[in-house]
Amino acid sequence: MARYIGSVCKLCRREGTKLFLKAERCYTDKCAVMRRSYPPGQHGQGRVKQSEYSLQLREKQKIRRVYGVLERQFRGYFEKAERMKGVTGDNLLQLLERRLDSVVQRMGFAGAKKEARQLVRHGHLLVNSKKVNIPSYLLKPGDVVELREKSRGIAQIQQTLAAVEKRGFPSWLEIDKAQFKGKVLSLPARDESTMPTVKEQLVVELYSK
Ligand code: SF4
Repeated sequence: MARYIGSVCKLCRREGTKLFLKAERCYTDKCAVMRRSYPPGQHGQGRVKQSEYSLQLREKQKIRRVYGVLERQFRGYFEKAERMKGVTGDNLLQLLERRLDSVVQRMGFAGAKKEARQLVRHGHLLVNSKKVNIPSYLLKPGDVVELREKSRGIAQIQQTLAAVEKRGFPSWLEIDKAQFKGKVLSLPARDESTMPTVKEQLVVELYSK
């Protein structure tokens, strides 16, 4: 599958906001957005006229980049969100938040979505006691995610878990830190998504043209 292999900090600078794509570094003053708060490239510091379309496009790109989803897959999530009951924008964020790689990060087993995806792909995770290695696997309330026993000794996971615990876990997840296990208690509320300030309505407008 195609994937972005360039500098992820450039993506944050392009969007003008922290997308938290690099685990702990994002919480330090080494963050590229804090050091150079203008878009990358030769014309990064020039004046940019913001059209309605560019605002919608940038909001869509932000969401796509945070969840590490390519355009076609993102479109698929949007179409699914449209078919669901309720507000399309909320449904879209909820679907993305329910992905296994996203939940693994929110549970503190990985610092960034990219790391979470790698853990899943390499078979470190169990869902309801069965091995699942598909990062886009959609979790539902009641599902239990746990690290395989042989993976629990990985020092980086332990450090990340401790750091994420300090910042706090979302209330829709119940974490048993000692057992490296977490349960999905409910569907994520809009204000508890990874991106509480994103304007998902602009994405709906973009795709509804
Ligand atoms: Fe983005 Fe993190 Fe890089 Fe800062 S350190 S620019 S938040 S990926």
